[in-house]
Formats: sequence, C-alpha cells, structure tokens
Amino acid sequence: MPTLGNPKNTIGIIQKYNFMFQKKFGQNFLIDTHVLDKIIRAAEVTKEDCVLEIGPGIGTMTQYLAESAGRVVAVEIDANLIPILEETLADYENVTVLNADILKLDIMELAREYGGGRPLKVVANLPYYITTPIIMTLLEGEAPVDNITVMVQKEVADRMQTGPGSKDYGALSLAVQYYAEPYIVANVPPNCFMPRPAVGSAVIRLRKLPQPPVAVKDAGLMFRLIRASFNQRRKTLLNGLGNAAELPFSREEIAAAIKACGLEPAVRGETLSLGQFAQLADTLAGNV
Ligand code: SAM
Repeated sequence: MPTLGNPKNTIGIIQKYNFMFQKKFGQNFLIDTHVLDKIIRAAEVTKEDCVLEIGPGIGTMTQYLAESAGRVVAVEIDANLIPILEETLADYENVTVLNADILKLDIMELAREYGGGRPLKVVANLPYYITTPIIMTLLEGEAPVDNITVMVQKEVADRMQTGPGSKDYGALSLAVQYYAEPYIVANVPPNCFMPRPAVGSAVIRLRKLPQPPVAVKDAGLMFRLIRASFNQRRKTLLNGLGNAAELPFSREEIAAAIKACGLEPAVRGETLSLGQFAQLADTLAGNV
C-alpha cells in the first residue's frame, strides 16, 4: 500500500535525506491522498497499461500508479531524488525510474521499450515552468499516447478547456482542442502541496482524439494564423495577420479571405472557433 501522500511521511523522507527543494525544477510535492485518488481514477489506469509519469518527486504518486498499472516509467530530472525513489519504490517491481529531462527523451522509443508499442497513459503533477512544451510534445509528437492526466496551474487548465468569448481563450486552447478532448477533473488548492505553490492548481484530463475535430489542408499554416492573431489580441484579425512578418500574405489577400469566409471585416481573431481558423487557412492556402 502507498505510504507517502501525507505531510508526516513526506517530511520524514525529506529530513532523512536532507533533501533541499529546488524552485527551478518546480518542486511542489502532493500531500493529499484524496487528490491522489482522484488523479488515479480520472486517468483510468488498469493493469493493462504502461504509464509514463513525469517528475515523480519522492515517489508519492508513483506508488499509487504502481498499484494500479501494469508498468510505470517515471522520468525525474533531479539526481538528488533518485536515492529517495530507490527507497520509496523498493517494493514495486513494475516501476522503472529514469534520471533524465523529459523534454530531451525520445518518447516513441520509451513507448516501444516499456509499453511494447501500446499507447501510453501519461500521468503527472507537472513542473509548471514547462507545462506547455510538455503537453505540446505529447500531443503533436508521433509517440502513441492515449490520454494525459496532469496537475497544472489552474489558469492554464482553464486556457486549455475554454472556447471563443472567454478571456482565457488563446493559441493554447486551440492547439489542445485540435488534438484532444479536455476535461477539468478537479481544482486543487495550494495547501495540498509541500511547499505550497503561489498559484491555484487543477487536474485536467486530455483524451487524445483519433483524428482532429476539423479538417484542414495545412495544419501548420492554421497554427501560424492562430499564433499571429493572438499575438496581437487587441487588434482586428485583419491587422493582426496583416502585421505578422512571418506570414507571406498581403493585406488585400487577408481581407479577401476574411470576406470569403463570411466574417465581418473588423472581426477579432479571439472570436473565431477552431473550424473558422481551419476555413481561413484553407482559403489562404491557395495564395501560398
Ligand atoms: N510527482 C511528485 C508529487 O506529485 O509529489 C512531484 C511533482 S513536482 C510538481 C514536479 C517534479 O518534476 C519534480 O520532482 C521535479 O524535480 C520534476 N521535474 C522538473 N523538471 C523536469 C524535467 N524537465 N524532466 C523530468 N522531471 C522534471
């Protein structure tokens, strides 16, 4: 049975190893068993699954995952945590700990080696400083990933889940929703962590879609349009795209495409849905 996940045992381990928290690695360890149970349930982990855990810390969630999964691969960047993990995970034969930076690992290779090529389930209390690159690598990459259940900053969870008309809507919302179906599982207050983070947190589950919800000829172009229009959020779509040096279109071409899509000339990018950005990209693709 898991033995961590409460303040007393967490402090015990930290003191035993004289462990110093490193802010630069986003180290906020979970000390609430209810939250851990919720994460494990939301991830729908079974004995058939190979789970990738990013940043096991002292192994709190890893113990829970090891109980429910067939196999767990936990990738931890901080070498000082490795001897601790050797102790806290000693009873679990189905866990492999890798001392590495997740952003430098070949996740495809990892899925092949540990999951026999089956889709991975990714479960993590993420280091918040690299949430977006981790999520985008998992969503955009070739590696087989089934679903991703992660603790992130509350504001970032809101951004991933929201649609047009909200102040949180942006390039991250559209990128996530092109690849996955997001669902906020729970909001988690700072007192569930040690040390307490300065921000609120939320658990979000991203179920990877078998195919994108919209058809678009050139997804790369669509995301360049999305980034350009949200880079200048306060401007109209025409001005935002017209000012973007990275786009190869004239102002006239952009105005004509906006009109051809049935949009108002003064429309703002932040009001467009994913389907409308796809339509705009297809219209402009003829001009590349
Ligand atoms: N899973 C533990 C828990 O819930 O108590 C710890 C979560 S803590 C928020 C984030 C963990 O990610 C830390 O252990 C940190 O050292 C690790 N980490 C930070 N950057 C990383 C990276 N680039 N690759 C792998 N692990 C990283």
